[in-house]
Amino acid sequence: MPIVLLLFFISLIVLFKLYQADLKGAIGEQNVSLRLRSLDKSKYKVINNVVLQAGEYTSQIDHIVISDYGVFVIETKNYKGWILGHEQSEYWTQVIFKRKEKLYNPIRQNLGHISTLKKCLAAYPTIPYHSIIVFSSRATIKVTTTTDVVYTSQLLRTIKQYTNFNLTEQEKENIFEAIKAMNSIATYDKKKHVQSIQQRIEKRKNAIRDHKCPQCGSDLILRKGKFSTFLGCTHYPKCTHTIQLQ
Ligand SMILES: [Zn+2]
Repeated sequence: MPIVLLLFFISLIVLFKLYQADLKGAIGEQNVSLRLRSLDKSKYKVINNVVLQAGEYTSQIDHIVISDYGVFVIETKNYKGWILGHEQSEYWTQVIFKRKEKLYNPIRQNLGHISTLKKCLAAYPTIPYHSIIVFSSRATIKVTTTTDVVYTSQLLRTIKQYTNFNLTEQEKENIFEAIKAMNSIATYDKKKHVQSIQQRIEKRKNAIRDHKCPQCGSDLILRKGKFSTFLGCTHYPKCTHTIQLQ
């Protein structure tokens, strides 16, 4: 086969794989949106696919549910295979047969989303935020976390577990309108977003190289945990940021 033809086929396959991954992501989010739609509308207000900007940070949030019981921030993941990880670790592991892949800990990712949302909703400093990570049934969840990491089928049950009354009707309405007004999904440039994430990763790498905590700028020190040695922040317990050594 001529090399040009071969290259053509390879790029075709790569494009198809990329398209497939995008499609699967979209289907997963659709599935969650559909479920969220069945929540009692007098208690829960749902906004899907939100892009928020706070300073240099842009966060793309899959689903936000504003309820009598606080604000739920939901991150959906469409990985298959076994998903292993801990609450604090920087990366989780996806295992498919004997192949292992690293993925950034979605709990940490969602904490970033929540911190952007908090900045955007600074006028409401007392709102409780609930982070939920949702995996489709393609994955087998094997994680040890205190944050809710659940299958799509468990999502509504998980949300309904929270019953402490926190927000008034007026607050709920105001927050809902505020988020809708700040949502920049219409002008959202995914390429730019990826760039800004890369810049953040670069900044983080530089900070770690200089032995500074990427979160608060304090010095980092080597700590010994039960299972591993890691870099911790000298500002602990005020800052709980850790960096796993691999
Ligand atoms: Zn720190």
